[in-house]
Amino acid sequence: KYNDEQMKRRKLHNELQETKGNIRVFCRCRPLSKSEVVAGCASVMDFDAAKDGDLGIAASGSNKKSFKFDRVYTPKDDQVDVFADAAPMVGSVLDGYNVCIFAYGQTGTGKTFTMEGTEENRGVNYRTLEELFKTANERTETNTYSISVSVLEVYNEQIRDLLAIETSKKLEIKQASEGSHHIPGIIEAKVENIQQVWNVLQAGSSARAVGSNNVNEHSSRSHCMICIMVRSKNLITGECTKSKLWLVDLAGSERLAKTDVQGDRLKEAQNINRSLSALGDVISALANKSSHIPYRNSKLTHLLQDSLGGDSKTLMFVQISPSDKDLSETLSSLNFATRVRGVELGPARKQVDTSELQKMKTMLEKARLECKSKD
Ligand code: ADP
Ligand code: MG
Repeated sequence: KYNDEQMKRRKLHNELQETKGNIRVFCRCRPLSKSEVVAGCASVMDFDAAKDGDLGIAASGSNKKSFKFDRVYTPKDDQVDVFADAAPMVGSVLDGYNVCIFAYGQTGTGKTFTMEGTEENRGVNYRTLEELFKTANERTETNTYSISVSVLEVYNEQIRDLLAIETSKKLEIKQASEGSHHIPGIIEAKVENIQQVWNVLQAGSSARAVGSNNVNEHSSRSHCMICIMVRSKNLITGECTKSKLWLVDLAGSERLAKTDVQGDRLKEAQNINRSLSALGDVISALANKSSHIPYRNSKLTHLLQDSLGGDSKTLMFVQISPSDKDLSETLSSLNFATRVRGVELGPARKQVDTSELQKMKTMLEKARLECKSKD
């Protein structure tokens, strides 16, 4: 399925993964759209060294800016190219690590294109899940897996379950044991193959539009969050793990001019900013190795608490427009992404499910006592 170049990249990527901490940042630039071309917009991008992860931008006049990422995708790179870099995360999830893949950027830069894609040109979500089942099926001699999916939306700091019949019911996050949390009442759809997952995602996707009078507006103002929960048992060692994969299509990162928004729209804008700026604060705290990471300041970061930073693996797509008209938003996204890339984390840690281990210990102890009483 993969060509040599892609295989080589995957291998390299795996090596990087081991040695370089656990946050990867990929930058993807979409093509100029037809209407931008018609309007006379020009591309300010310099992709000469994109293969090495370098991105140049002609800011103004002779003022050039350069950025460095783990990889830069040009408008010529397709969904397969992009997925080749996300694919190694699948193995990590099945191995018991929490993983978060998210797309960040201004509205209209291709976040949904990268994550969801289209039916003919599927994105990271579908490809990741397809790979997840494929790899799980290859491991049936050594492991058993149980996989379930939840689809959520965070809008105005409220969590909606997109798989529920009553999607208007508001959900709350409850804190469980150290670091972990749960959402009482949330639907976790058990899935056994990619077709079932696809049906679940489609259902979530169509529920998203319900109740909003402008679908595009709504989706650019809300975060769409897919959570894949994987329970695994290693049949040889008996080790059980319980890990999560988050696939997140974030709300648009553009700053709304305060002067032309009022009332509900202003509240909306403040809430989006609250979630995205909370994400920025969490990233900064991680970068500074701060003892307190402010995960609880927004629903978005609270939900991602055990899958963002800490013991997990994070992959960010920073999506940008090539157009000179979008330059200031582009620079602000790239600066944010640069901060994210500066975060150095320790090695990721497996999410061992100790409740299974505890059950086994209790059983053993009971058996031991029974043996003893027979003596
Ligand atoms: P966002 O979710 O960030 O608001 P979209 O994913 O909706 O942006 O993309 C905006 C438009 O640009 C869509 O019409 C989409 O098909 C197109 N687009 C985005 N990225 C690409 C790409 N890499 N190649 C071709 N078209 C793209
Ligand atoms: Mg979108």
